[in-house]
Amino acid sequence: MTKPVLIVGGGPAGLAAAHSLSTVGKECVIVEKEDRLGGAPILSGYAKLVPSGEWARDAIGGMVKRAEGAPGVSVETGATVTSFDGEPGNFTAELSNGKKIDAEAAILCSGFTHFDSVNKPEWGFGTYEDVVTTTQVEQMISSGDGVRCPSDGRKPERVAILLCVGSRDRQIGREWCSKICCTVSANMAMEIREELPNCHVYIYYMDIRTFGLYETKYYWKSQEEFKVKYIKARIAEVTSDGEKLIVKGEDTLVKRPITIPFDMVVHAIGMDPNVDNPTISETFGIDLEQHGYIDVGNRYGAMGETSRPGVYVAGAATGPETIDDSIAQGHAAAMAVLSTSADFSKTA
Ligand SMILES: Cc1cc2nc3c(=O)[nH]c(=O)nc-3n(C[C@H](O)[C@H](O)[C@H](O)COP(=O)(O)OP(=O)(O)OC[C@H]3O[C@@H](n4cnc5c(N)ncnc54)[C@H](O)[C@@H]3O)c2cc1C
Ligand code: SF4
Repeated sequence: MTKPVLIVGGGPAGLAAAHSLSTVGKECVIVEKEDRLGGAPILSGYAKLVPSGEWARDAIGGMVKRAEGAPGVSVETGATVTSFDGEPGNFTAELSNGKKIDAEAAILCSGFTHFDSVNKPEWGFGTYEDVVTTTQVEQMISSGDGVRCPSDGRKPERVAILLCVGSRDRQIGREWCSKICCTVSANMAMEIREELPNCHVYIYYMDIRTFGLYETKYYWKSQEEFKVKYIKARIAEVTSDGEKLIVKGEDTLVKRPITIPFDMVVHAIGMDPNVDNPTISETFGIDLEQHGYIDVGNRYGAMGETSRPGVYVAGAATGPETIDDSIAQGHAAAMAVLSTSADFSKTA
C-alpha cells in the first residue's frame, strides 16, 4: 500500500498523527488552511501551556519543526480539501489550490473555533476596550509586552476573570464544558500576580473544574500561594462608570447581589465546534454530533473512527479537548489507519 494518508489540519493532533506515520515510514500530506502549522496554540499565540509550563512556541513549535523535517511528511498550507471521493485504501482528494492527492485514508484534525465573545454582549466585550479574552491575555504574556489595559496601556490593579464564557450556557446554545478553561484561567491568574504583584485577581465561577491532578497545581496553589480570590457567582452584566469596569451579579454562596469595580475583565472563552464543520461534513461524507463537532463512531475498538470507513478524526475536532489528549488521539488515529493498512496488505 503506497498511497499517503491525508491529514486535515496541522495543529497538535495533526502534527502527532504525522509524526506517528512518519516514524513507521508511512507517507502523509498535511493540508492546513492557514499559512503555517501549529494550530490554536501557535496561531493564537498561547503563552505557557498547562500543565507542562512550557511556552507554546517551544512545545508546539517543536512539534511543527519535527513534522516539517520528517521523512515522508509533505505539507500544503493555505489550502482546504474541496472534494473527497473513493473508498478505504483508494481515495482522491482535490484541494482548493488545484492539487490532487490520492490517499489511502484521511484523518480529520481540524480542531475547534474560539468562542466569539460578542455573542455574550451583556458581558461587555466589544463595548469596553478593557474587556478582553483569555487568548488576548495569552498574547500579551507571550509577546513579552505584559498584561496591560488595551485602552491606555496602564498596568491593571484589579482584574476579574469570568469563567464559562461561551460554555455551559444553554441560553446561547452551548451546553458543553470546554474542559481546560478553569485550569488555564487559574494559571493565568497566577501569571498576572507574578508579573504584577500589586494587582488583585478575582475568578468568577459557577463550578471549578480543574480536573484530575490540576486541583493541587492550579486551584489550591492559585489561592494559597498567589492569593487569587474565587467568587461563586452568577454574572448579570459588565458595565462601566466611566472610570472602572463594573461587574454586577449575585454571589451565589451568600445569595447577595455584588457589584465590584475592575480595571480589566477577562472572558475565559470556550471551544466552539470548528465553523468549517458543516462543509467538512459534506465534503468527507461524515456525520456531526448534536452540538456540531465531528462524531466519533467507535470509542473503544478503533480510536477515531467516523461514520465513514477510512476517514478518522482526532483532537478538538471531536469536542473540547486538551492538547495532550489531542496529541494522544492523533497518534491513536494514525495507529488505527496503520492497522487498517495491515488488513489491506493481507488481502492484497
Ligand atoms: C484560551 C485557550 C487556552 C488553551 N490553553 C491550553 C493549555 O494551556 N493546555 C492545553 O492542554 N490545552 C489548552 N487549550 C486547548 C487547546 O487549544 C486544544 O487542546 C488544541 O489546540 C487542540 O488541538 P487540535 O490539533 O485538535 O486542534 P487546533 O489546535 O484547533 O488545530 C486545528 C488545525 O486545523 C486547521 N483547520 C481548521 N479547519 C480546517 C480546514 N477546513 N481545512 C484545513 N485545515 C483546517 C486549523 O487552522 C488548525 O491549524 C486552550 C484553549 C483555549 C481556548
Ligand atoms: S473548564 Fe471551567 S471555565 Fe471552562 S467551561 Fe468547564 S467549568 Fe467553565
